[in-house]
Amino acid sequence: MSTAYSYACKDCEGMESCPGKVVAATIDEVWKLMELHAVIAHGEDPGAWDDETRGYLKTLIRPA
Ligand SMILES: [Zn+2]
Repeated sequence: MSTAYSYACKDCEGMESCPGKVVAATIDEVWKLMELHAVIAHGEDPGAWDDETRGYLKTLIRPA
C-alpha cells in the first residue's frame, strides 16, 4: 500500500491557467516542490508567504 499527496497549481485561486502539478510520498516533500514551483514558474518568494497563504495552500494538498 502506497501513500501519495499531490498539489495542482490550477486549484489555486488565480492560477487556473498553470499546468504545474507535483506529487510526492509525503506532505513535507509536496511543500518543498510547491515552493520550488512557485519560485521557478511564478517568481514568488515562499519565504514571504504568510500564515493565511500557507493555510490556504495546505488545503490544496490532496491525497493522490
Ligand atoms: Zn503554477
